[in-house]
Amino acid sequence: MSDNLHRRVRTRFAPSPTGYMHIGNLRTALYACLYARKEQGDFILRIEDTDQKRFVADAVDFIKRTLAAARIVADEGPDIGGEYGPYIQSQRKDIYQKYAEELIAAGHAYRCFCDSPDSAEAEPVPADEADKYRKKPGHCELCRSLSPEESAAKAAQGAPFVIRQLMPSSGPVTFYDIVHGSITIDAGELEDQVLIKRDGLPTYNFANVIDDHLMEISHIIRGAEFITSTPKHVLLYEFFGWTPPAFIHLPPVMGKNEDGSVSKLSKRHGSTGFAELVELGYLPEAITNYVALLGWSPKSNQEIFSMEEMEKAFSLEGLSKSPAVFDYAKLDWFNGEYLKAMDDDAFAALARPYAKEIADGLGDKWVYLAALLKTRVARLGEIPEKIDFLPAPHEYTPEDFLNKKNKVTLELASEIIPAAAALLERIDADGWTPDNLNGALHDYIETTGKKLGAVMWPLRVALSGCRVTPGGVTELLYLLGREESIARLKAASAKLA
Ligand code: GLU
Repeated sequence: MSDNLHRRVRTRFAPSPTGYMHIGNLRTALYACLYARKEQGDFILRIEDTDQKRFVADAVDFIKRTLAAARIVADEGPDIGGEYGPYIQSQRKDIYQKYAEELIAAGHAYRCFCDSPDSAEAEPVPADEADKYRKKPGHCELCRSLSPEESAAKAAQGAPFVIRQLMPSSGPVTFYDIVHGSITIDAGELEDQVLIKRDGLPTYNFANVIDDHLMEISHIIRGAEFITSTPKHVLLYEFFGWTPPAFIHLPPVMGKNEDGSVSKLSKRHGSTGFAELVELGYLPEAITNYVALLGWSPKSNQEIFSMEEMEKAFSLEGLSKSPAVFDYAKLDWFNGEYLKAMDDDAFAALARPYAKEIADGLGDKWVYLAALLKTRVARLGEIPEKIDFLPAPHEYTPEDFLNKKNKVTLELASEIIPAAAALLERIDADGWTPDNLNGALHDYIETTGKKLGAVMWPLRVALSGCRVTPGGVTELLYLLGREESIARLKAASAKLA
């Protein structure tokens, strides 16, 4: 540990390209990046693709695109390069062999020639019945007992083999985790895991250790699911005489179940992929901001953080030991705040794809509508339903005009709607501006002595068929235009008659 205090901070995000980037991965990458920035260190992207069977085409590009969208920028990595490269493990194949040989020579690893279930696999799997040489899974008595000469001779004859780590039969293996404290397990529980597979490629557990050492990683930040692998890694560091990096295992992100309980965040809780959330209309920066706070608390009560602010405020002490619960309502709140903070033109451009033909039909008025929507949606995906009354009003019945709070009766609605239609008809198309429309409505309110709410309620229903719309009657009139507005008011009068 103490050695780490004097090392340059170098963190990494080391995804296996086996699928998409969910919120948990994103958080890991973000914390690793933030910590490096905070300490003026380096943040590295390393692709751990030695498990070719689990490889998913396009996954590497997907990871890169996601990090770019989330503005998590590596200092070293596959496309960027750096003095510790290559940064894709399949391109480092030749590096690992010599370390495995070194372990064999020192008696910390052995060749296993048996055709056991895990010898062809990337990760050890429990031995089956046929595996007669085993006392415990991933532990080959037969090959352990070969002398170095016998083993080398068999290999020289071309017998296929895997290289297994030779675990001590007992004794404590301890490592220190910055979040969880000291963790000890008994070496007797550890299997002789495969380090190099028959195809010559290293397993995740081996390549990960070698690369973290060679890339001079000072802090490993990763998910808590790797806590059980860490003792095996720690033994490798010990065997090689290397100082292990500091470990930081992040508790999982949980999702809220319908019955109120929580379980590890998964699809059944909702969208959990960064790209999916973006598609739903969440802004990358809002997602990133929220995700940062899932397991890290700043010293202040601040919630909205730009990337630069997070880089300054981040600290390992703020990391939580207990799992955080992903709350979609909270994400909505964050997103709404980010949307409100945008300028109108930028929001209009961003929101346009969600409004499609309606935006096209509005021409210049789209920016006007977008400004109304900006403060009224939590995410862009809500836009279509908020404006679907524009092409045609929602179906409504005379009862929809009734409103207790504003004391609107059918009689009152039948009086107001035709009167408003008549007075608005006097405004010509050129004069159809929000100011003029607003002026005309207020003149009517003043001269008749009616209440504002009592006038606006029936007009809103007549124009949209909705009880709630983005913007008030003036805005609706302006957006619908003269002809359409008057037609809708007349249709409403007819309905009431
Ligand atoms: N390649 C591992 C993964 O897929 C990374 C483990 C680590 O960060 O050490 O998550």
